[in-house]
Formats: sequence, structure tokens, C-alpha cells
Amino acid sequence: MCQHKPHLQPQNVSTTMDLLHTGSNQLGIPLSEEQIAQFESYYHELVDWNQKFNLTAITDYTEVQIKHFLDSLAALPLIAEELNMTLPFSNALDMIDVGTGAGFPSVPLKIVAPSLRLTLLDGTAKKIRFLQHLVGMLALDNVTIVQGRAEELGRQSVYREQFDIVTGRAVASLNTLVEYLLPLARLGGLVVIYKGGGAADEFMAARKAIEMLGGETVRFAPVEVPFLAQKRFVLLLKKVKHTPGLYPRGQGLARKKPLG
Ligand code: SAH
Repeated sequence: MCQHKPHLQPQNVSTTMDLLHTGSNQLGIPLSEEQIAQFESYYHELVDWNQKFNLTAITDYTEVQIKHFLDSLAALPLIAEELNMTLPFSNALDMIDVGTGAGFPSVPLKIVAPSLRLTLLDGTAKKIRFLQHLVGMLALDNVTIVQGRAEELGRQSVYREQFDIVTGRAVASLNTLVEYLLPLARLGGLVVIYKGGGAADEFMAARKAIEMLGGETVRFAPVEVPFLAQKRFVLLLKKVKHTPGLYPRGQGLARKKPLG
């Protein structure tokens, strides 16, 4: 059969994570077959565990590709540009994802940039159990999974000002979130916050808090997520001064009485 072209067999190509495949190319992040397979198992584990544990409201095959996987990856070109690095990052960078839930945005980032040394942080036991299972399934190395509160880790010397990259998506309002994230960034480190519509107002309300916590805004940019009509924004902060010892405050104050 001289016309046999195994790599074009439709059952292998067009049905498996096809939106992710096309969308990641649009983002300038071409994925290998192995990475596509990792995303495919991520999807199946997420949906499977979700039946028992309610990890996410988004479970449709198309929606997970767009709203979880591509949305998580969409900030990566901005991060790479800010770090002045190309993908996959050659330096081992320490990254913590605060309130990671079922692993967003950091597990997709780790799949495409395997050299990242990743800490996954969440307060909820069922999320932690899922993440332990997932990290094993996907055979990801250099991943530490921690159950705890961001405002407590931010006061412990093993975590405080230790990370090159600190991420947060859909965890809290911005003026609360910056008090969770900025204390964890090392001097010169980068904080990456994912936000939906309404981000501009939240940003105005958080500007003072960002400064008080030792941050400086380097970028507040709309981000195009492939196949998604809604607006998404990424806020990039650089840690330019040490966070004063007073922060993060305990007893839920970051949430109940946000700075600013
Ligand atoms: N980042 C994920 C999950 C968002 S849901 C995503 O984008 O899909 C918010 C998550 O943050 C929940 O899993 C919740 O347990 C966690 N969370 C909220 N406040 C927290 C805190 N102070 N410290 C640690 N985790 C927190």
C-alpha cells in the first residue's frame, strides 16, 4: 500500500485534543504527541474524579480544552517574554501555584515546560488527593504538593520569598490575592495573576496593596485565549522590595479586610 500515511490517520489525530492542538499552535506553543497524550489523560482523570469529588464545573471535552488547558497556557508567552527566556525554559525555575484546585494554571504549564520545579498549594484535602493521583499518572517530576493556606505559608521561611514565579487563577479578589501571592515571590521574582472581565476595576482597587507588599506592575494585558470569546486578562507583577514582616496577615484578614 504505497499510500499508507500512518501519521494522517483521522482516528489518531482529529479527535484527540484537536482544539488544544490547534490553539496551542496559535499561542506559539507547539505540543508534542506525548504532551497531547498527557493532556488527554489529565482530562479523563479530571472528569472521572469529578464524579465523586466535585473538582470543577467545567467537564465538557471542548470546554476543558479551552477554559482550562488553553486558558492556562495563554499567559505563557507573556511569562517567557518577561523572563527573557524561550520555551521550554532551560533554567530550573521554582514556581508555586496558590489555590491550584484541580491544577490550574500550573499543571498545563508544567506539561509544556517540564524543567519547572513546581509547588502545588491548596487548602482543600480532596483537591490535594486528586493532585497526588494526577502527578503520579502524568509522571511529572519535581512537583511538591502542599495542603495549607497561602497566608500561613507566606509567613514560613521555607516558602516566604522563595519562588521565581507565583501564579493564581480564580482564587480571590485581586486585593486579597496579592496578599497571598506577593509574600511568596523572591526579590526579582514574578507574580502571574489570571483574571476575567472586571479585571480593570479590581486592578485599580489593588494598586496600593501591590505597592505595600513590595510589588510593581510590569504588565496588565488582555489575553486572547484561542476559541474563547470572553475577555481574559493577565497581571504580571515584579517583586521589587521585600514584603514587610506584617504581611500576609492571619485570621482571614486578607480576605475580610483587603489592603488598600
Ligand atoms: N486555580 C484553580 C482553582 C480555583 S478555585 C482554577 O483556576 O481552576 C479556588 C481554589 O483556591 C480552591 O481550590 C480553594 O481551596 C483554594 N483556596 C482559596 N483560598 C485559599 C488560600 N487562602 N490558601 C490556599 N488555597 C486557597
